[in-house]
Amino acid sequence: MSLLDRFGRPLRSLRVSVTDRCNLRCMYCMPEPDYAWLPKETILSFEEIDAIADAFVSLGVDRVRLTGGEPLLRRDLPTLIESLAAKDGVRDLALTTNGVLLAAQARALRAAGLHRITVSLDTLDPQRFRDLTRFDSLDAVLEGIGAAAAAGFESIKIDSVIIRGVNDDELPALIEYGKKVRAEVRFIEYMDVGGATQWSMNAVVSRREMVDLLEARYGGVVPIDEVSSAPADRYRLPDGTSFGIISSTTEPFCHSCDRSRLTADGVWLMCLYARAGTDLRRPLRAGATADDLQRLIAAVWSSRADRGAEERLHFDRREPLIPVSALKKDAHLEMHTRGG
Ligand code: SAM
Repeated sequence: MSLLDRFGRPLRSLRVSVTDRCNLRCMYCMPEPDYAWLPKETILSFEEIDAIADAFVSLGVDRVRLTGGEPLLRRDLPTLIESLAAKDGVRDLALTTNGVLLAAQARALRAAGLHRITVSLDTLDPQRFRDLTRFDSLDAVLEGIGAAAAAGFESIKIDSVIIRGVNDDELPALIEYGKKVRAEVRFIEYMDVGGATQWSMNAVVSRREMVDLLEARYGGVVPIDEVSSAPADRYRLPDGTSFGIISSTTEPFCHSCDRSRLTADGVWLMCLYARAGTDLRRPLRAGATADDLQRLIAAVWSSRADRGAEERLHFDRREPLIPVSALKKDAHLEMHTRGG
């Protein structure tokens, strides 16, 4: 029996941020000149993540995604992957990365038992990549995607945040690149999450517009009929190529959201838009048993009523979620701390 929240949504998917550090400064996530980082001593050890993961798995979580910050910055990540992959209950173990360090690590990640990789890549133009991320790392990312395929990862996804006037002319180019490297591309609507301090509704390219753009280039785009709690709605082009759109901003899907997030310092968040979470590190470090952790997690999930993206749809004037001054005081409000 799955554990259900107040809207009947099961606890199924856990995203674990293994670090709040990142080696890019994407304009839609980390546009500020400086950041307050989580104190080192608060970062969960692999043993602590493993113990927390056990509690979640015993309550029905069967999908785990490692994220960050940039997860490949966390030293010895394959050690954590090995222990998570060894859990009987974990049916799907995935990683979201910006790909900069992937070329060097792809084989070790695969050998450790990682099932799937998603690489974030918003542009194929080197100058635009630099403008978007403040780093000159496009070649490294492309090399990383090649290395992941060579290491035997079959299900590689490419996630592209589409922003008006920035990369909304690149949807076909990204689709063509995806075909070449046999990766499915998922276009993400620009979200007004914490950290997206330059966000405005005008910059959001909606799912409808993205479908129109692709139809203009390829002809009829057909929705793929499937039952899934994945955030992306999938479509097919006339030549059979599939792609996804994650329309969190204009057509959110909170009603089917079975995802929650653990920050690198052990704060458990019910929603990307949540203002606060439940600290699991403190009880763990104070000697909580597996049963204690399970009881705490079950109680919090049973009372979950979050539907942050749907609530924001009804705002008359939509602005960035959190002002910079508040972000500076609490790193937990940042997207790069929560993981995507
Ligand atoms: N560093 C890794 C990466 O780049 O994939 C993992 C962390 S990153 C926060 C996870 C995902 O969140 C990325 O795909 C990123 O594009 C997405 N993201 C961050 N800010 C966003 C925003 N304002 N709107 C939509 N997606 C966003």
